[in-house]
Amino acid sequence: MSTAQGVINSKVLVLNRNYLPVHITSVRRAFSLLYQGIAQAVDDQYRTFDFQSWSELSVAVRKEETIGIIGGAIRVPRVILLQTYDRVPRRQIRFNRFNVYARDRNTCQYCDVHLSRPELTLDHVIPRSQGGRSTWENIVCSCQPCNRRKGGRTPRQAGMALIRPPRRPEWTPFVLDALSLRGHREWLPYLSTVDAAYWNNELEP
Ligand SMILES: [Zn+2]
Repeated sequence: MSTAQGVINSKVLVLNRNYLPVHITSVRRAFSLLYQGIAQAVDDQYRTFDFQSWSELSVAVRKEETIGIIGGAIRVPRVILLQTYDRVPRRQIRFNRFNVYARDRNTCQYCDVHLSRPELTLDHVIPRSQGGRSTWENIVCSCQPCNRRKGGRTPRQAGMALIRPPRRPEWTPFVLDALSLRGHREWLPYLSTVDAAYWNNELEP
């Protein structure tokens, strides 16, 4: 047996049904989810496989990428796709810059222009000077011209309209601390590079 010892403890990226990364888990847990039908394996062509079809794949990969099972070897998935939200514990979505920008898709919520993250700012819809708080419902992405134009006013006072009402997102947050782990090539299409500390700091209420 020359199966790599480390492989069972290596990491697998978990996507929710919308292909958003939500988790990093162990190979052991990934196989458990796959076997129970809670998740499907995703290959580097974005094809999905249930446990049966995954285990039937010809194991034409290096030994380090497989684990031994009764009657042969099975390829270790690097990405799995959840089939349901129900069986995985939900976590409270973190209220931080990254998740606000992600919710607003890097788009100014006043003029609908899409910008790179450094060109956007966070805006209090009801300004703090008028009692507005830092909450999901009161913080939006804004371009700098819109932010300046709005100043210390509410949208109504400034004659500006939000393109959509800000709400707490429903998706589960992806723990970006995971990026400090050694990732796998197969994860890259699902991850964007970010400065984890800046984007993950909890915003002050
Ligand atoms: Zn704008």
